[in-house]
Amino acid sequence: MLLLQYLRLLGIGGIGIIRMSGRDCFEVLNKIFVPKKPEKIENIKGYSIKYGFIVDNKESIDEVLVSYFKAPKSYTTENMCEINSHGGNVVVRKILDLCLKNGANLAEPGEFTKRAFLNGRIDLLQAESVIDVINSKSEREVKTSVKQLEGGLSKKIKEIKQEILDVIVNMDVSIDYPEYDVDEVANNQVLTMLDSIQSKLEVLEKSFDNGKIIKEGIKTAIIGKPNAGKSSLLNSILKEDRAIVTEYEGTTRDTIEEFVSIEGISLKLIDTAGIREAEDEVEKIGIAKSREIANSADLVIAIFDSSKVLTDEDYKILDIIKGKKSIILLNKADLGCVLNNNDSVFIAVTNNIVNISALTGEGLEDLYSIIVKMFNLDEINFDNDIIITNLRHKNLISNALDNVKKARDTVNNNMPIDIIAIFINDILEDLANITGEFVTDDIIDEIFSKFCLGK
Ligand code: GDP
Repeated sequence: MLLLQYLRLLGIGGIGIIRMSGRDCFEVLNKIFVPKKPEKIENIKGYSIKYGFIVDNKESIDEVLVSYFKAPKSYTTENMCEINSHGGNVVVRKILDLCLKNGANLAEPGEFTKRAFLNGRIDLLQAESVIDVINSKSEREVKTSVKQLEGGLSKKIKEIKQEILDVIVNMDVSIDYPEYDVDEVANNQVLTMLDSIQSKLEVLEKSFDNGKIIKEGIKTAIIGKPNAGKSSLLNSILKEDRAIVTEYEGTTRDTIEEFVSIEGISLKLIDTAGIREAEDEVEKIGIAKSREIANSADLVIAIFDSSKVLTDEDYKILDIIKGKKSIILLNKADLGCVLNNNDSVFIAVTNNIVNISALTGEGLEDLYSIIVKMFNLDEINFDNDIIITNLRHKNLISNALDNVKKARDTVNNNMPIDIIAIFINDILEDLANITGEFVTDDIIDEIFSKFCLGK
């Protein structure tokens, strides 16, 4: 089947790209593309570009460049071409319609990548990382996703699978030739293998703590009584050159989640719209709301006006952050502090206390380095570590670890080797599901439906 898609659906850009994939895509192209220097398709090399015009009944539609990719050396491993036209919506639509009229079908979201997977060029894990690269909100996230796209995690999973397979071969001998007394040897091998893969899987499972932060950002709440300086702090974080701000619709209608990037990691600031837009003092976030926000956060930044003595409301804020991952900011340092960062009321709650001035930006660097330390961000080696960022992968690794424990129990309980083999096969199956060897069509459809059109 032939499919096509154009890459830029909304808005107007310099160029529009129409992509076709499938055995017959060059035939469709031939019907609508007149190159300046015509050449037989057999003579056109893959990865080459030709200049010419898209025509409909001898009428020129647009001046274009066409890239040729020949099977199997293309994104989908099929014959592919990309028509680079001018970017206006009318032109792109017209070329798209022409392709459809001449035998192409419209692609579903993610269909190109799905074909790359089904045709065996990439595994499921790599296909999923394509979505992650596209949706990345921070530099670190791009870096981690690209590493998965390159196959870092796939390779690791393959190594672990191989380790299991090496032992299964010996177990099969035991099952097939029970007259040979290889059980004991096999059991010892199984236990050694289980220990080894358990520690590798645990490292991967643990990496999800960081992976989640990389992917979803650190859900951060800024709380404090009215006039403590919440919105000023926010503005001063957002003003920083390095802060990349993206606004997303929040889960409830009246919240906006804002992402800022600090040291390449996103902070997802909760309900900042509420903080910044409330003009009326009464409307500014109250204690009950602060408690609610703090409860849903990974990190709570509590801000106090250090030029004034603490009030009842401040004590309530301190009460909210007790036992939570929190940072205390003693704001308005430029006004001369009445509050002291050695004060026991603060130390009793957290050691992370920073003097800042939201107005001048003083102390912001200290705030950032505390965040980096609190979430061990400096310990993540983005160049070498393999980090799990996808919940599906993490769940399968956790399943595999459960099956490792079950397999070990069966060995320790002297179960017959064919029973042990069942659990070991379950581990293999969990791992194979990550890379997509055994996954069902439903899961594949669900994964690819999250893609954008044209990918
Ligand atoms: P919010 O109600 O907690 O959002 O507080 P705002 O950010 O609106 O700040 C209340 C007032 O304090 C404003 O007039 C700010 O300009 C002022 N303010 C905030 N931070 C500082 C600071 O660090 N130094 C000084 N001098 N004034 C500040």
